[in-house]
Amino acid sequence: MPRDFLIIGGGVVGMAVAYGLARRGRRVTVLDEHDGSLRASRGNAGLVWVQGKGLGMPRYAELSLQSSEAWPAFAEELTARTGVELEYERRGGVDLCFDAAEAEARQEEYCALYATTPALAAMRWAYLDREALREHLPGLGEAVHGGTFSPWDGQCNPLYLLRALYAACHSLGVDYRPASPVDGVEATASGFTAHTPKGDVAAPRVILAAGLGARRLAPPLGLCGEVHPLRGQILVTERLPQSGRLPSPQIRQTASGGYLIGDVLENAGFDTGVTLETLHQLGRRAVAVYPDLAKARLVRSWGALRVMTPDGSPVYEASRTCPGAYNLSCHSGITLAAFHAEELAEAIDSDCLASLYGDFSGARFDVQATG
Ligand SMILES: Cc1cc2nc3c(=O)[nH]c(=O)nc-3n(C[C@H](O)[C@H](O)[C@H](O)COP(=O)(O)OP(=O)(O)OC[C@H]3O[C@@H](n4cnc5c(N)ncnc54)[C@H](O)[C@@H]3O)c2cc1C
Repeated sequence: MPRDFLIIGGGVVGMAVAYGLARRGRRVTVLDEHDGSLRASRGNAGLVWVQGKGLGMPRYAELSLQSSEAWPAFAEELTARTGVELEYERRGGVDLCFDAAEAEARQEEYCALYATTPALAAMRWAYLDREALREHLPGLGEAVHGGTFSPWDGQCNPLYLLRALYAACHSLGVDYRPASPVDGVEATASGFTAHTPKGDVAAPRVILAAGLGARRLAPPLGLCGEVHPLRGQILVTERLPQSGRLPSPQIRQTASGGYLIGDVLENAGFDTGVTLETLHQLGRRAVAVYPDLAKARLVRSWGALRVMTPDGSPVYEASRTCPGAYNLSCHSGITLAAFHAEELAEAIDSDCLASLYGDFSGARFDVQATG
């Protein structure tokens, strides 16, 4: 059956957009790689996080806020369609500060960012000292100086999100093809043809949502391939009784009770491994934050590569040289999933990406791309 869209990449970005397009009645094929491929969507921390997003690009802060507002309905709809609980909650979150200088710098950054545009005036946040934080983070250690609290922040189980997106897409007729790595995409008279070892797949429009795969696939279509890997490592404890502690980028307790400890940024090329040195640091910091974790058993760890653009903000762009080709690269695919499934999918469907989200074009990096 002829398809309207070909999406390359079946991570959380590609699947959220596939879901959004399929809900609008579009026929979509998704081509994805293998289980062993680089997949940020399967190694992330699961935060639906707003505070601090968009430093240097207030529009990105606006989209994060917008997506956080859309998340409750998005999660509810996905669960209703698929029966998959996303373990989503939005009780607020805290980004910790470990000394006075960090606390002061953070507050200055937030004051400047949230005064930038009228839309950001809706953003609520507050700096709380250690004593005040203990109401949200019982048992907080003396090593923590304080932290920024925002009621917009939340968390989910990112693997359940992905599973729900696959199931919802399947029920809407999306043709998801795993183990179909795309060697290249060619512009043709009638649209685009993707070449895979299993054969060619064609559609009038193509969306690259290939994570780090954009480096190779995007430039030939006049799109921006400026993404690089930035490794994170995550350490997980055994399941412990629920503490009621709000999530933070440094540590969060999941719905099943385990603590997920992370928030490191490492330039390690394409190495997805873990290192004892970093895991040791993570463990030490977790105990400094919550001393009662000193005796917690550690059950697993992993490394995963972030999909980073040069300025850390998303790239959403339509090709000027190959009309009908789009590129989506972003580091906040969980947070932005609700936005991707709704407004972003709509903008692509109506071919308004460049006019509505021109600020996010890769042209801002001044490379030979896009528009
Ligand atoms: C450690 C860590 C913690 C994070 N924490 C958070 C967080 O708390 N909250 C948040 O919002 N975000 C977080 N992120 C970021 C988030 O995970 C990413 O923004 C998101 O997963 C990006 O999704 P994606 O679909 O673009 O990329 P990916 O998940 O990498 O998916 C890209 C897909 O494209 C496929 N692909 C690539 N090339 C080809 C090809 N040639 N042919 C076919 N398929 C191809 C790949 O196989 C893959 O399946 C974190 C990331 C990391 C690494």
